[in-house]
Amino acid sequence: MKKYMWLIIISVFVILISILVFLLYPRVRFDNRNVNLGEVYNPDVKVYNIFTDLSNRIRVSNNVDTSKLGSYDVKVEFKYFFINIKNKYAVEVVDKENPVINLVGSEIGRACPGKEYVEEGYTASDNYDGDLTDKVIIETGDNKIIYTVSDSSGNAFNTERKIEYIDEEAPTIKLSGNSTIYLYLGNNYQELGYSAIDNCDGDITDKVVSTGNVDTSNVGTYKITYTVTDSSNNTTSVERTIVVKKIVTQMTYGNGNVYLTFDDGPSERTREILDILDEEGVKATFFVCGANAYTKRAYDSGHTIALHSNTHNYSYIYANSNNFFEDLNAIDTKVFNVIGIHSKFTRFPGGSSNTISRRYHTGIMSYLTSEIENRGYTYFDWNVDSNDAGSDVYSSDNIYANVINHLSHNKTNIVLMHDSGGHSATVNALRNIIRTAKGYGYSFKAIDSSTPVIHHGVNN
Ligand code: ZN
Repeated sequence: MKKYMWLIIISVFVILISILVFLLYPRVRFDNRNVNLGEVYNPDVKVYNIFTDLSNRIRVSNNVDTSKLGSYDVKVEFKYFFINIKNKYAVEVVDKENPVINLVGSEIGRACPGKEYVEEGYTASDNYDGDLTDKVIIETGDNKIIYTVSDSSGNAFNTERKIEYIDEEAPTIKLSGNSTIYLYLGNNYQELGYSAIDNCDGDITDKVVSTGNVDTSNVGTYKITYTVTDSSNNTTSVERTIVVKKIVTQMTYGNGNVYLTFDDGPSERTREILDILDEEGVKATFFVCGANAYTKRAYDSGHTIALHSNTHNYSYIYANSNNFFEDLNAIDTKVFNVIGIHSKFTRFPGGSSNTISRRYHTGIMSYLTSEIENRGYTYFDWNVDSNDAGSDVYSSDNIYANVINHLSHNKTNIVLMHDSGGHSATVNALRNIIRTAKGYGYSFKAIDSSTPVIHHGVNN
């Protein structure tokens, strides 16, 4: 009996000790095994037994780098009496943040009726993967486009753009040539052309309807209206104004002044002419074919520099209007480079009444005489011809008589002379012309914007 007693006592004792050890044995609790990318990581490890928190006895170390996704080790060491715990735990740095898609353009896209929406663009970026634009998947839904993207951790994002199939944009009509055209009585009005472009329909030039008419037998202002409508019923109209003017052949109109004009220079004659003009205190006008120091001297002395021609080659300048204005621009540039201004006064080689241009382009003078004014120039012909053109077979006496006999106090006297090489008879006649005309009471002027314009009739 006694023997059993001891056995029972020992058993009870062992059981009690076991219970006590069980209760006292420290337990490790490790809560945060995941950490978000970029966040600061502090391992949350606790050790405790039934009676007390023993956390101050643990040593925790880790190599967690929260800037990189992956699995890291956290080491936990703990010593307590005879108990020695060494544990290793895995901690995951995870990315839970969704990528983002930014749409270029409006959230409501526009497409032409019956056409596909033209993607305006988008970008996708992710906190970890960076630019994901080329990973975006596009699906076309009912009146919408759906954009989806996933990052390398499987976080997905989608957005959508509503599409309206509607065209509210009117087409545009572009007129060839000026929107205001000046014509003279009897000129032909020729349509210069137009084009019409629509954002949805493309080129709809053939749908343009033009209304209105031009009566070049009557002075007046006429309008041609060009109208076009696209397939969504958006309409555009533009107008062209055609001004029909009376031909101004002001051969007898004017102020009684004398405007000496010298064509085709500069040359050595120009220097001699400038000397005489200076000595006589007279201002004149030079319609030049070039520009040099004499041109500069003339301009600085108060004479007017006007444009004549760069080539003075009839077969070139009267072949077509492009050639003509290319030539005019060339002489304009030469003059500008020497005197620093763009002259707006011109004279057609051969005059606006020339017939030689018929050989090269029928009707070109009718076009050029209005187009040159459309471009802001004023052209001058002449109504007193010294007849010095050509060669020295014309004597200075003849030149003198041609001028003096045709001056009138009742008109603006625009005198045609030449200062190109060879015109020594002109130089010889000049001083007499000036002195005689002064004796008759004439004043000499250089052409300016107040000068009455003398135009010949157009013959081509
Ligand atoms: Zn000339």
